Amino acid sequence: MNDTIRLIQALEILDSRGNPTLAVRVELDNGSEGLACVPSGASTGAHEAVELRDGGSRYHGRGVQQAVRHVNEIIGPYLVGQRAAEQAQIDNQLLQLDGTLQKSQLGANALLGVSMAVLRAAAQSLGTPLYRYIGGTQAARLPVPLLNVLNGGAHADNNVDIQEFMIVPAGAPTFAEALRMAAETYHALKDGLKKRGLRTAVGDEGGFAPDLGSDREALDLLMEAIRAVGLEPGVDVALALDVAANELYQDDGYHIGGAVKDAKGLIGWYESLVNDYPIVSIEDGLAEDDWHGWQVLSQSLGKRIQLVGDDLFVTNPSRIARGVELDVANAVLIKLNQIGTVSETLEAMRMTQRRGWNAVVSHRSGETEDTLIADLAVGTNCGQIKTGAPARSERVAKYNRLLLIEEQDSALEYAGWGAFQH
Ligand code: PGA
Ligand code: ZN
Repeated sequence: MNDTIRLIQALEILDSRGNPTLAVRVELDNGSEGLACVPSGASTGAHEAVELRDGGSRYHGRGVQQAVRHVNEIIGPYLVGQRAAEQAQIDNQLLQLDGTLQKSQLGANALLGVSMAVLRAAAQSLGTPLYRYIGGTQAARLPVPLLNVLNGGAHADNNVDIQEFMIVPAGAPTFAEALRMAAETYHALKDGLKKRGLRTAVGDEGGFAPDLGSDREALDLLMEAIRAVGLEPGVDVALALDVAANELYQDDGYHIGGAVKDAKGLIGWYESLVNDYPIVSIEDGLAEDDWHGWQVLSQSLGKRIQLVGDDLFVTNPSRIARGVELDVANAVLIKLNQIGTVSETLEAMRMTQRRGWNAVVSHRSGETEDTLIADLAVGTNCGQIKTGAPARSERVAKYNRLLLIEEQDSALEYAGWGAFQH
């Protein structure tokens, strides 16, 4: 089987927000192909790998022609002739070609497009579904979806401080049933908003951003929606939050509910929410460099719920290692483009899982039709995926891919509540 790389070509395409991003195509000598599209975040962490943008006036400075050139003129010619199956070796060479700590020379977007497309081409070359290529016989679970259906914070013009309110259909027997429960709840939520004369336009990730008075009002609306479709909160469908606390943090503390709180005050507030609602997971409860605050958070709530670091860890193995040492959380959000290659992402997930922590594979707010993260979640057996509301095709594409995987592979089981053990 000759899986030698024959061609690597990048193209500037648009993401779900109408901003340019890269599509990369890898062609092998045996005729196999891999196509990958790169996602892009909005509330990016300071420690993320660098997305290369052209600047200037074209696309308001957001063009990626330079990154495309780096693929076509530097990375592609260098990797032609190598075997697609050598993912680790190829990713290593990408790091060396770039030569910087945050991948700012060639651009993490350029590197990631190539890395993902090589992975796909290698899987196709073996005639293996992508999740099986990633996970082999280890791949056994379909992930529980965490669906962002209601927004506040910087993502909305309302009095809600928390950025994302997610529904978590962990009590379903299958992934397909989980998605049905979530979609029905989403529509009941829309009806509830309409009845109150509230806005039902959706944001970048398909969630609603109505003009609500408080975070508790948002949680109450979700509880009502779950019950409206005959489901039981905390049994069939639980709740999860992404606070994105970086956005609340200023020099004098965390700005929330019209007041300024220190980490301890904020943690106390989370405890009261966890007491009153079936919240199973809180992401970025504190700011990205508040390591001490995170330790206190972990001591206070780490035994009761999942505490996820997104901007805190940025899928970076060295930041995860520090987090494990300091015992600051019990889960890591996994975003390929925060770190920039498939191999480093897999390493971050292995580290996380080895310590008994949970890994949650995630989309970005700027997405494309690429569904690689669905296969990544199944292949790594991580048990959880966060990829937006059950609306907007770039979000639903990932859920639909999981439906297809479930339908085609009877060896896989829905992770359900088991995904939240830690
Ligand atoms: P983003 O996503 O960083 O892709 O905008 C939101 C988040 O998970 O914090
Ligand atoms: Zn986040």
